[in-house]
Amino acid sequence: MNRMNSIRLVIVGGVAAGASCAARARRLDESARITMIERGPDVSFANCGLPYFIGGEVKQRDALAVQTPQTLKEMLALDVRIRTEVISIDRPGKRVRLRGVTDGTTEWLPYDRLLLAPGAVPLRPDLPGIEDPRIFTLRSLQDMDRIKAAAASAQRVVVIGAGFIGLEMAEQFVHLAKQVTLVERLDQILPPLDRSMTRLMEDELRRHHVEVILDDGIASFSSEPAFTCHLKSGRTAPADLVVLSIGVRPDSGLAGDAGLELGPRGHIHVNAFMQTSDPDIYAAGDAVEINDFVSGETTAVPLGGPANRQGRLAADHMFRPEHTRPYLGAMGTAIVRAFDVAAGLTGWSEKRLRAAGHPYRSVTVNDNHHASYYPGAKPLLLKLLWDPETGRVLGAQVTGMLGVDKRLDVMATAIMGRLTIDDLAQLDLAYAPPFGSAKDIVNLAAFTACNARDGLVTPLDAIPDNPEVQVVDTRPAPLVQAHPLTQVRSVNIPLMALRQRLGELDRTRPVVTVCALGKTAYFAARILAQNGFQVSTLTGGIRAHFDPRTPAKLPTPG
Ligand SMILES: Cc1cc2nc3c(=O)[nH]c(=O)nc-3n(C[C@H](O)[C@H](O)[C@H](O)COP(=O)(O)OP(=O)(O)OC[C@H]3O[C@@H](n4cnc5c(N)ncnc54)[C@H](O)[C@@H]3O)c2cc1C
Repeated sequence: MNRMNSIRLVIVGGVAAGASCAARARRLDESARITMIERGPDVSFANCGLPYFIGGEVKQRDALAVQTPQTLKEMLALDVRIRTEVISIDRPGKRVRLRGVTDGTTEWLPYDRLLLAPGAVPLRPDLPGIEDPRIFTLRSLQDMDRIKAAAASAQRVVVIGAGFIGLEMAEQFVHLAKQVTLVERLDQILPPLDRSMTRLMEDELRRHHVEVILDDGIASFSSEPAFTCHLKSGRTAPADLVVLSIGVRPDSGLAGDAGLELGPRGHIHVNAFMQTSDPDIYAAGDAVEINDFVSGETTAVPLGGPANRQGRLAADHMFRPEHTRPYLGAMGTAIVRAFDVAAGLTGWSEKRLRAAGHPYRSVTVNDNHHASYYPGAKPLLLKLLWDPETGRVLGAQVTGMLGVDKRLDVMATAIMGRLTIDDLAQLDLAYAPPFGSAKDIVNLAAFTACNARDGLVTPLDAIPDNPEVQVVDTRPAPLVQAHPLTQVRSVNIPLMALRQRLGELDRTRPVVTVCALGKTAYFAARILAQNGFQVSTLTGGIRAHFDPRTPAKLPTPG
């Protein structure tokens, strides 16, 4: 093929966004001269799989190298240059300067279109002792090798940061029979989720003997007499190995030096076709800022799905601009597993909506992941947030053992389709007992949301700290005896007895009904409301809201 007059595409960064762009570009234009420049020794590797090789779930290191420079050359006719860095961009001359990482030699490479896909760098705060070689971050296959080697002789591991990667690492170190401490600055694990949706996973970590330290940050490290992490509270955690997973920053120095527009946190600014402020230079992946699909505001979502789709879209716009649909934005759909529990979210969380002052309503519902009578049913907890004005779904969070991914994906699709709670209530989902329920938990959440909207139930996220409130625990008496509600003063009137025992309640004072999962409390609320009581219900039930370790806090009886 004569490539003399064909487009010269240069791609900086050869992993998720870069490799996606290259592959799509080749499929659209056989004649394009595509050069991929990668600083590291690997291209197109599965960074999301790194924790699982460390822990031994992925057995073959090679399995993580999805492509090699050789396979990319053979399959896509790419010129792949590994261990080569792009160190500057000459925009007027439309060329990039390359430097060999091993020999330091430099050369210029011309481009017609340039894609920047440099990704993001793990944060490494400037703390005393941070240069200790026992402190690691995880981004590349080489980081993975170093951690795996260090883990072989380590017994005590401290993971700092309980986000997605931190949790995956904690789980994998337990698989390696390490003594694991997980430290998180906030008062919950999984910071993007609301606190109530993280309890199940927190309990699961503790059940597997992970020491979970919340509300505490790392202050410094010391190596004498033994390597130790010092926390802000004054607490110490001895360690043989530390993994820092406290977030990432965009690797956008090259773009900034070239005078491309950057956002307030250093992300590369792009339009809906992934073009930077220079229309011949595109950018995609962890380094860019994009639109939040829900709010339309500018945000950054450093995740694999968006990176891959953005890289592909950039290639579409370079080679078929007239057929390219603009990027609609990301909603931050994410999921993580720790042992038998999975948790994830899509769209906005309650705390994020509250902080932004965005009006919202929410309900939390429990159900099984498939028909409860069919063997193997596992509980699911789903929180749904919606716009009270339009009914549009704003976000959802799901946690449980099985079926979490399916519900999150349905909710992500609902958000993308701008569905409302009424639409969700009618969503026709696949059902047979081994797979789901005739009323799936997605439908149930929508029914509950519609009930709340229509005034049939008033869901509460917490029991008001008001001595006037009568808290009615509607669980069967043996269950209350076995698992008493110690955190608030309550009266136990089981649902079955409620109609006969209405006289025990004061009609002039508000009632809050509670039960384990929120279901019988709702049934009780309907009985009470139709008998003239002013009643609300703890949405999601006791299980979602009360930490068994929380000390009792009893309002004085009114
Ligand atoms: C351990 C781990 C687990 C993860 N798990 C998940 C997950 O389960 N789900 C999920 O959605 N996401 C996950 N992610 C995030 C996901 O991997 C990233 O969002 C995605 O890889 C970003 O793609 P990217 O192309 O923007 O950047 P990267 O994949 O980081 O690739 C950027 C590449 O550019 C190269 N580069 C940078 N600057 C230059 C330069 N000047 N010259 C040459 N080369 C350069 C870098 O060496 C790097 O290899 C995980 C990430 C990690 C590290």
